[in-house]
Amino acid sequence: MAKKTENFERPDGRKLNELRPIKARVGVIPNADGSAIYQSGDTIAIAAVYGPKKMHPQHQQDPAKGVLRCSYNMMTFSVSDRIKPGTSRRSTEISKITEWALEPVLMLDKFPGQVIDIFIHIIQADAGTRCAGINAASMALAHAGVPMKNLVCSVSVGKLDKTLVVDLTKEEEDFEEGEGPTDIPVSMTPDGKITHLQLDGKIGPEQLKEVLDIGKKAIEEIYEIQKKALKEAFN
Ligand code: UDP
Repeated sequence: MAKKTENFERPDGRKLNELRPIKARVGVIPNADGSAIYQSGDTIAIAAVYGPKKMHPQHQQDPAKGVLRCSYNMMTFSVSDRIKPGTSRRSTEISKITEWALEPVLMLDKFPGQVIDIFIHIIQADAGTRCAGINAASMALAHAGVPMKNLVCSVSVGKLDKTLVVDLTKEEEDFEEGEGPTDIPVSMTPDGKITHLQLDGKIGPEQLKEVLDIGKKAIEEIYEIQKKALKEAFN
């Protein structure tokens, strides 16, 4: 369990505003239109994009714009307690919030009647999987050549008792001392437009502003890594 927050020391020795080591690469699934892998510490997400293509089933077609359809899935072996395969309440929620996080940067009006499918697989999980999935999906969409206004970058900021830290591990998410943990996954474009924010716990308005500042700085770092991976693939 993580230690108490006076002179708070993170279990893995990171600074409060330090991200876990990140690895990112695109083009990892040759048959997909676009694909990417994004790893933050021990959390690994793979995203595959198929489309834009004609929407099936047909009754789900929107004649005015394309539809983004995300499917988030944690592999059974991604954590030490085997995960039951198939759709769960949690996976349905994360699929939905991933769509909401990405839609604002997509020009879906260019694809009436069509669908863009994104499949996100978490092959290893140590918290922050929704953020890793959004980062991988954003890169995979760009790799597929889907018209986008910007990339989306995602990170979780946490309040452990009273201390704010970035990019929580599962051990930190389970912090139980003082006021306990608050987990705030946030997704933004690199110029700071928030496309998704969740809040699991309690936080005051002043500290929430600080959370957004910390998130923004982390997102600038993530953006550089995503951009580098995309440039490497296209060079
Ligand atoms: N987790 C787990 N079993 C589950 C769901 C989650 O062990 O059925 C772990 C996993 O490490 C995950 C973490 O709990 O990353 C936190 O899950 P949460 O629902 O908060 O979402 P995340 O932080 O992964 O976006």
